[in-house]
Amino acid sequence: MMRPARIALVVGTTGALILAVVLSAQQVRPAAPMQIEKVKDGLYLIRGPFNRCAPNGCGGAFGDDGLLHEAGDVAVRVTSEGLILVDDKYQDNVAEILEKVRSVSPLPVKYVLNTHHHTDHAGGDATFITTTEIIAHRNVRENFLRNKQPGAPRVTFTDQASVVLGGVEVRAYYFGRGHTNGDAVIHFPDLRVIHTGDLITEGMPVMDYRNGASAVEWVSVLDKILDLDFDVAIPGHGPLLTRERIRSDRQKLVTMNQRMADLARKNVPIDQVFGQLRLEDLGWNHTVSTVAFRGGLSGYYEEMKSQPPVFAADPLSGTWTTGGPSPQTFVFKASGDRFGGIACGPCDRAESVFRVEDGRILDATHVSFFVSYDTAGPRFRELGRYRDRVVGSLADGQLALSAQPEGRNVPASTLRLTRVVHGFVPDTSNVPPSSLLTADPAAAPSPIEGRWVFAGRVAQQNVILKVRGQKIWGVICGPCDPGGVTLIDDGSFDGTTLRFYINHIDTPPSPAQRGVRRNIMTGTLSGNVMRFTWVREGAETEPGGDIVMFGPIRE
Ligand SMILES: [Zn+2]
Repeated sequence: MMRPARIALVVGTTGALILAVVLSAQQVRPAAPMQIEKVKDGLYLIRGPFNRCAPNGCGGAFGDDGLLHEAGDVAVRVTSEGLILVDDKYQDNVAEILEKVRSVSPLPVKYVLNTHHHTDHAGGDATFITTTEIIAHRNVRENFLRNKQPGAPRVTFTDQASVVLGGVEVRAYYFGRGHTNGDAVIHFPDLRVIHTGDLITEGMPVMDYRNGASAVEWVSVLDKILDLDFDVAIPGHGPLLTRERIRSDRQKLVTMNQRMADLARKNVPIDQVFGQLRLEDLGWNHTVSTVAFRGGLSGYYEEMKSQPPVFAADPLSGTWTTGGPSPQTFVFKASGDRFGGIACGPCDRAESVFRVEDGRILDATHVSFFVSYDTAGPRFRELGRYRDRVVGSLADGQLALSAQPEGRNVPASTLRLTRVVHGFVPDTSNVPPSSLLTADPAAAPSPIEGRWVFAGRVAQQNVILKVRGQKIWGVICGPCDPGGVTLIDDGSFDGTTLRFYINHIDTPPSPAQRGVRRNIMTGTLSGNVMRFTWVREGAETEPGGDIVMFGPIRE
């Protein structure tokens, strides 16, 4: 976020108008002062000072958003030979930063790493440059020079840099454009902590297009961050965050990008775009950075307009089949540009129900995914545990798949699928990503894995449970032809209690609900009997029903 110098008219005691140049809000009394807290042994976080009004001040078009705003989070890594700082807030915060630093270590600051050039994160460089070495991405230095910002870093890197001091290593990574074109992610590998700069804040993403931002690249930057080994994240602004929070922000950004691409492609007038992004269901309509986000809206609109049309998740979600006498059935559940699911055929046998992993929607007509063959079957007996790498293309309502065993020189096989339910395309904008994306591929089958049955209203229902480690997925079907197969996912098993979801992807939801209808199953295992209660998601307080299942059936 940026807080440029602003000019304010102040009424003096004599009643005359005095022109005052206010360099930043820090010169007025903050609502709460700067504070330092311990993150882990040898690592501290300095937050604040906290001020009222939006990042661009109380004046101007945006006014007071009613929230407290703070300068960028500063990380202080203490080593036996001196200190490494990540970011240094505004220039007029430096004296107070040094005061906070001295409260945890008497040693000098040897290095400052910048997450990006904005003055609420790197304004202090103008002072620190006289005493320490400042290291930043090459584009950060270029942004300093172009914006005539004092204190440009003298040491730059392009992909990765390491500072080693007192036996402690601190790494800086550049994963691509996001908030700006110079965002570094700082990794403290021994402590498993990262500093994300403004790639993640307590608020929503803000794109600074004048300094090379990209909402599209930002998603892959977050994927690369999630590949790092960490359990605590220091954001650009705000309190410490978890890995899970970064994962959910990534998903929300994908959703927002899809909405913006949609609006831009439909040429929705720019003054209507903010309202139509539906930020309230992302929890982003009133954050510390929503006002700043709004300032970058037209750049965001232009970026998404120039994107090739993305194949929306919706046309893929649901059940597909090859048809014919021994049909192969696929159930896909997509969220954003990722999907999971199940491949089966026959679908009433545990050894022919397989997980669809790492599904990706690549563009308007192409998808890729893996099918993980991890139990008996002719190809499993021939090849052992293996995955098929599958590429698919969608045209005229048909999904053409080409599958090849990963890393093996076996000819590709091809399949042609059509949707089982024609004419209904689910709205997947609120569908959470399936745990099928993350299940452990090496976990062995549980003894309760297999076919369980119960009496349905019309026919016997077969519940094929795949139980690996503490995860459950599978299908429920009865009859088990492609039209009757429903996906089970996101399940857990602790040895006694089972909990999983049944996804009615091809069924229109009730008028009160958008998206995919799910039932939540909760049951207990006792010998060969499982007793379940089920409720509809979103209506958990309303009565659902009870089910008693028997199994696993030995074929
Ligand atoms: Zn920023």
